[in-house]
Amino acid sequence: MKIKSAEFVISNTDVNKCPADNKPEYAFIGRSNVGKSSLINMLTDHKGLAMTSQKPGKTLLINHFLINNEWYLVDLPGYGYAQRGAQQREQLAKIIRTYILKREQLTNLFVLVDSRHEPQAIDMEFIRWLGENGVPFSIVLTKSDKLSNTRLNESLERFKSKLAEEWEELPPVFVTSSQQKTGRDNLLDYIEQINRAL
Ligand code: GDP
Repeated sequence: MKIKSAEFVISNTDVNKCPADNKPEYAFIGRSNVGKSSLINMLTDHKGLAMTSQKPGKTLLINHFLINNEWYLVDLPGYGYAQRGAQQREQLAKIIRTYILKREQLTNLFVLVDSRHEPQAIDMEFIRWLGENGVPFSIVLTKSDKLSNTRLNESLERFKSKLAEEWEELPPVFVTSSQQKTGRDNLLDYIEQINRAL
């Protein structure tokens, strides 16, 4: 898929205020600092579209971007930021859960995981919750440039076998690096394929 246009539409915390048209929606989520903003900017080829932040967890809103006037890319708040207070964490979890369960336009959720780390409990719990609720999702390993090919393959296999403990059929797993633009075509072609099939 070629990106012809990418524009910011709206930010909010209320699923009822998200765009009302019925364009398919692809949302991105992951722990703070996983590289979500960088990935969104890399995919859309717009440097400043999503706000990359030095401060983890700065984005607390559901952000809608309209791509090619055809589909929405949705930047969801990062989950599991330890330094946030319990109350704010719960409030954020509620926003995320409500969006994921209520948003009928949500076509696929991309769950970002840092390729350097062992699968984390918080990610596995979140993925389990998606499965229990029948939410279509894919996994995106980020920052692949930070590992050698051998290490990257080890990490990929580790993640897949962790998923295989709970899933008979594995979801798609994409390997990406925003710095090297790795995985861009695969991911965009995947979205295009789904859009065509709708
Ligand atoms: P977010 O909090 O998930 O939106 O993460 P950001 O996109 O703001 O990235 C967090 C940090 O990781 C920043 O310092 C980025 O420069 C760095 N980063 C993000 N993606 C990559 C990548 O593909 N490769 C490398 N080497 N660093 C990355």
